[in-house]
Amino acid sequence: MNGKIFIIEDEPSIIQLVQYNLEKEGLIVSSATNGNEGLKELKKFKPNLLLLDWMLPDFSGIEICKNIRKDTNFKNLPIIMLTAKGEEEDKIKGLDSGVDDYLTKPFSFNELFARIKAVLRRSDPKLVSDNLEFEDLKLDRNEKRVFRNEKEIKLGPTEFRLLEFFLTNPKRVYSRDQILENVWPNNINVESRTIDVHIRRLRKSINLKDQKELIRTVRSSGYSLI
Ligand code: CA
Repeated sequence: MNGKIFIIEDEPSIIQLVQYNLEKEGLIVSSATNGNEGLKELKKFKPNLLLLDWMLPDFSGIEICKNIRKDTNFKNLPIIMLTAKGEEEDKIKGLDSGVDDYLTKPFSFNELFARIKAVLRRSDPKLVSDNLEFEDLKLDRNEKRVFRNEKEIKLGPTEFRLLEFFLTNPKRVYSRDQILENVWPNNINVESRTIDVHIRRLRKSINLKDQKELIRTVRSSGYSLI
């Protein structure tokens, strides 16, 4: 999945859980633990969706929501409110104040992710698309197929995951550690040399004769999709 999610939530354990899992899905995540900082950071970060806690140490989620809606740049920003149990009445007020959806704590990540996808599907369908595209490269997540300039390319499973990862955020430079974390999430014994080997294989597969190089090596930083 593509896109940027901002979280305003004062419970670090929730931020941690949500951020870890959203990043694994390919999203870029940033957060704040109070309303004041959240409002400032949010305007710099420009997310595609906001996860907003109901009870914060300084402002309520509703106050923050109203504040955001006053700003013309954010009046359509999708917001999912996170509420504690037993705030039923408040939930209704929440929806009146321009929240797109709400979720009661405790929630599972899968529940949250389903809501995020549903809200983004309405607001920005290309972010939840099963196809990832960049220049003449196309990756179909459902069928696990890759095409360059309409021609199918066969990739090994690791090269497929690598390319999928790069395609979720083109032009962003990733360090070997970030690539390792995202593409080999369960294997702590992978060496950076291994990453280079798979990048080389991926390059060889996707850069056919006379075609433009699409993976850029950034000296002492890592790699990016051009
Ligand atoms: Ca709270």
